[in-house]
Parts: sequence; C-alpha cells; structure tokens
Amino acid sequence: MSGTVDLAFDREHIWHPYTSMKDPLPVYPVKGARGVMIELQDGRQLVDGMSSWWAAIHGYNHPCLNDALHEQLDAMAHVMFGGFTHEPAVELARKLVALTPPALQKVFFADSGSVAVEVAMKMALQYWQALGETGKTRMLTVRSGYHGDTFGAMSVCDPVTGMHGLFREVLADQLFAPAPACGFDDPWDEDCIEDMARLLEENAKRIAAVILEPVVQGAGGMRFYSPRYLCRLRSLCDEHGVLLIFDEIATGFGRTGRMFALEHAGVSPDILCIGKALTGGYMTLAATLTTSSVAEAISLGTPGLFMHGPTFMGNPLACAIANASIGLLEERPWQQEVAAIARGLEEGLAPCRTMPGVEDVRVLGAIGVVELQDPVDMARSQELFVRHGAWVRPFGRLVYLMPPYVIDTTSLQVLTDAVCRVVAELDACF
Ligand SMILES: *Cc1c(COP(=O)(O)O)cnc(C)c1O
Repeated sequence: MSGTVDLAFDREHIWHPYTSMKDPLPVYPVKGARGVMIELQDGRQLVDGMSSWWAAIHGYNHPCLNDALHEQLDAMAHVMFGGFTHEPAVELARKLVALTPPALQKVFFADSGSVAVEVAMKMALQYWQALGETGKTRMLTVRSGYHGDTFGAMSVCDPVTGMHGLFREVLADQLFAPAPACGFDDPWDEDCIEDMARLLEENAKRIAAVILEPVVQGAGGMRFYSPRYLCRLRSLCDEHGVLLIFDEIATGFGRTGRMFALEHAGVSPDILCIGKALTGGYMTLAATLTTSSVAEAISLGTPGLFMHGPTFMGNPLACAIANASIGLLEERPWQQEVAAIARGLEEGLAPCRTMPGVEDVRVLGAIGVVELQDPVDMARSQELFVRHGAWVRPFGRLVYLMPPYVIDTTSLQVLTDAVCRVVAELDACF
C-alpha cells in the first residue's frame, strides 16, 4: 500500500456523495481509524462525531468484529443465495426475528438501506395485488422524511429537500401528510395527526402502505416526534386497511435509547426496514422484515413469489459481522452508554441554546442536534471542525452529533466543545 492518497486523481475522477465533478468540496484523506478516533493522512487525529452516518456504533477497528470477518473470510467470502443458504444468514435471521416485534417473522436480506425500502414497498404492492385490490398502488408518507436515493425511495422522501423537483416526470406520485408536529415529550394533541387521518380516510382505496421513520426523522431534518403519533397511526392504518412500514434504517440498534425506535411507542409495523448500524459500520447490509400474513398473502398471488433477489443477497461476510455486532450489543451495557451520551450531549450543547443564530437544540438518545437559522457553509464548517479535532459534517441548517456508543466522556466533550465553538465562529462570519 502506498502511503499517500492521490487527491488530484480523486478530484478528477471520483464522485463523492452529492458533489460536483467540476468543483467538488475538499475531501480529507484518512489513513486509519480505531475506537472513536479517525486518523488523517497528515497524522491529525479526529474524534468521530458521525459514526460514519449512523453505522459505526461500536467504534472502528473493533477486535470482535475484525475476528468475525477474518473467521468468515477463511470459510467463504460469498456464495450466491439462490439455491444456497449458510449459517451466518440463518443465525442473523434468527437474531433479527428475536429482536424485533413478535409479529415480524419473515426476513429479506438486501444490500443497502435504499434497496430495503424498495423491497418494503414492493412487498406492500404485491400484498394488495395478491388480494385482488389492484387499485392500492400509492404510498402515503409524512413530509421531512428520508428513505434513500433509489427511485421508489426517492418518491417518498420529502418533496422539497428530496429530489422531486429534479425527477418530477419519472417519480411515482405519492401522498404526503405534514411532518408530525408534536415534539417527543409534548402532551398528545389529536390535531397532530388530523391531516394524516383525513388523507387515509379519503384515499384508503388507493393506498398500499404508510411509510415513515418512527420517532426520529433523520436526513430529512433531524426531527424528533411523539411516539403517540405512531400508536394513533397504527389504529388508523388498521381501520382503513392500509399496511404500515417503519423505516428504522437510521434509528435501529439503540441510537434513540431503545433497540428500535418503535419500542418508544410499543407499536408493531407490518413491514420493517433496517440497515446502517446492522453491521456496526463494517459492510453494506440491510434487511426488510414482515409478518407471516403479508408473506402468506404474497405467496397466494401470482406469481406467488416475492420478486426480488440481489446478486449479493445475504452476503456471508456481512451477515457474520452483523451477528458479531448484535452479539456485542447483547453483552454490553449499551443502554447506559447511550444514556450517558444523552447527558453529555445535553450538557455540552447547552451553551448553544443562547447563541445568536441558533433556532433549537435537541437531544434524544445518542443524537444531538443544533438547528441554526441559516444554512451552514459546508466547506468552511468542515475545516473549522477538523481544526478543533472533531469529525462533524453538518448539512443545511443542521449541525448534529451521533457518536459511537463507546465514546468516553473526554472525547464527547471534544465534540460538544467543537460544536459550540464552530456555531459561535460561523455566526461571527455571517
Ligand atoms: C440512510 C437511510 C436510508 C438509505 O440507506 P442506504 O444504505 O444509504 O441506501 C433509508 N432510510 C433511512 C431512514 C436512512 O437513514
């Protein structure tokens, strides 16, 4: 391995997420990562505030996850899932069925979160088709959602911050209710779900499923809302004969203080998507779970098969690491770790509350959000964070932290101090 990343080549030839090929924002070459520290090529050490987009919950280079990978690699890296099965996939399905609500019994392994969402939507469509309800082809969702970048997923992302303007002509035309307006701890107000209830009542014949992120809306705005919304939504869906899909790709595996965010509400969806932290941030893997009754209905329809099957479905390396990552969660006091992070975030981000330019500061589980009044200059804020020894990547008006659960108090303080300083410095330069 050569020591230096060729940044000029990168800039000339490689697309990074949501960037221009002509005038890309700077990228920082990374040499390695261990625990909660990311080491840049020039030797600078950054405390990780992002868990590589919700995924690296146990930190980087974890000995147990490394061992699981090495062990599986020696047996086989991959084998097709058509006509074959293997222990890592069976063990993972067993774990997922046990961890999720009892009604969810059937598991489909997908290769990314977006694909898990496509699969969920396809399950809902095939379900109604099998029951002869061919008019039920739309999805109903809430604004400010994010479900991925493929076409089905994009069609249920927020129409404004998503890419609906760009792809209007080709995106499926879905139905949108307002984003849930009741805060996580607010007393329940039935007005909060009034528009959703009306849309369901008026359009039930056309709607296959409601899809949304339970309790925390992630990339669509980092909003937290009342779990009561989900309880009411469950009964409304039952009342109107509409399936309920929860997208827990961001919230799953402890991030909100519960193993799954749906546990805050005690609600079981008909279909559940998980991903991101599933492999502890090591490899791409996602899954879509559903009930026996949805699966049985699909198998009674024509062709009686569930019509999806990615090349790398159930990849053994990814499944083996997911098993090890869930094993770590089972044996470690992650609830206490997440609760301690929540306290550290509350305390550490508190100074932002009174800063000019700050709209709101909110914390739930191991998620801390500082919402600003104006969009952040991404390149400049990134540079400031790196200077303060922190890896934090704001988007839009949001500066947020979601560190690995294993973070220590001192490192967490590096992150919250960096956020306070950068928010103050950004305001000074407007
Ligand atoms: C990230 C995310 C997705 C998409 O997952 P990818 O693995 O990036 O395709 C879908 N839904 C939610 C809630 C997400 O946070």
